[in-house]
Amino acid sequence: MPRNLDPELCLALAERIRYYNELGIYDFYRRTPSGENASGIAVAVEVRGNQPESGEEMSPRKAPAVAMPVAVEDNIFEVLAPKPEQGVSDPLKALKIIREDLGDCTRCPLHKQGRKQIVFGVGNPSAELMFVGEGPGADEDAQGEPFVGRAGQLLNNMIKAMGITREQVYIANVVKCRPPGNRTPEREECETCSPFLMRQIAVIKPKVVVALGAVAAKTLLAMSSSMAQLRGRFYDFKPAGVRDSSWDGCKLAVTYHPAFLLRDPRQKGEAWKDLQMVMRELGLKAPAKGIQ
Ligand code: URA
Repeated sequence: MPRNLDPELCLALAERIRYYNELGIYDFYRRTPSGENASGIAVAVEVRGNQPESGEEMSPRKAPAVAMPVAVEDNIFEVLAPKPEQGVSDPLKALKIIREDLGDCTRCPLHKQGRKQIVFGVGNPSAELMFVGEGPGADEDAQGEPFVGRAGQLLNNMIKAMGITREQVYIANVVKCRPPGNRTPEREECETCSPFLMRQIAVIKPKVVVALGAVAAKTLLAMSSSMAQLRGRFYDFKPAGVRDSSWDGCKLAVTYHPAFLLRDPRQKGEAWKDLQMVMRELGLKAPAKGIQ
């Protein structure tokens, strides 16, 4: 911690940081008006505008902004607020710690809108491939596991088409509680819950994350582009605040949400192209059939 810091300011900061930690937030950013990045680490740039794509949309951000990480040596927050899973090398244990930190969450309005249980995530804690959806539906809410309903059956088929099993991958959602009536989660709900998803990704350290649909893509990439603009390429991705020298981050690809593919099966071919790109990255052999 810098030596010259006013003790009163220090106490006030510590109190504020504790408050954010209770929300599950451990990574802090300094926004500079000039837009210069002091530490040289690129973070997401929000793009103005909201372009709904094929029924996949989410509410627009309040204001465009560029988030800048505080230079490591400056980062008093990091000294004050290590994540509880920090230093835990077993990913299964680290995920359990994150789940405990989430607790019986009441951080956003979804907790009082009829959720039966929190749907944290499922799968291989050391998975090379991770899928991120939007939020639990009725079946997931009932069973406590992501993607177990109709969309889940299609996701299973997508995984199978890649020549791998559901047990080999990790599956999670941006929000961990069911939005009532399966509505799209609000921006604030995504922003409140996504720090826990980021911590899950940082623990699992996959080689590739596949964002299923616009909500997952826009939350992970902090971009408001259309699905057409977001698909068809890889993004370099590292959850904010990860300073783990053993992991350089991963690739992130965007594809259609299985629920969207159920509504418009003609797009399965496009989704298959996305998954084949992922398979090439992971060195997986492509079985001939595609998504069934
Ligand atoms: N849709 C999602 O985005 N996630 C689920 O877990 C189920 C359906």
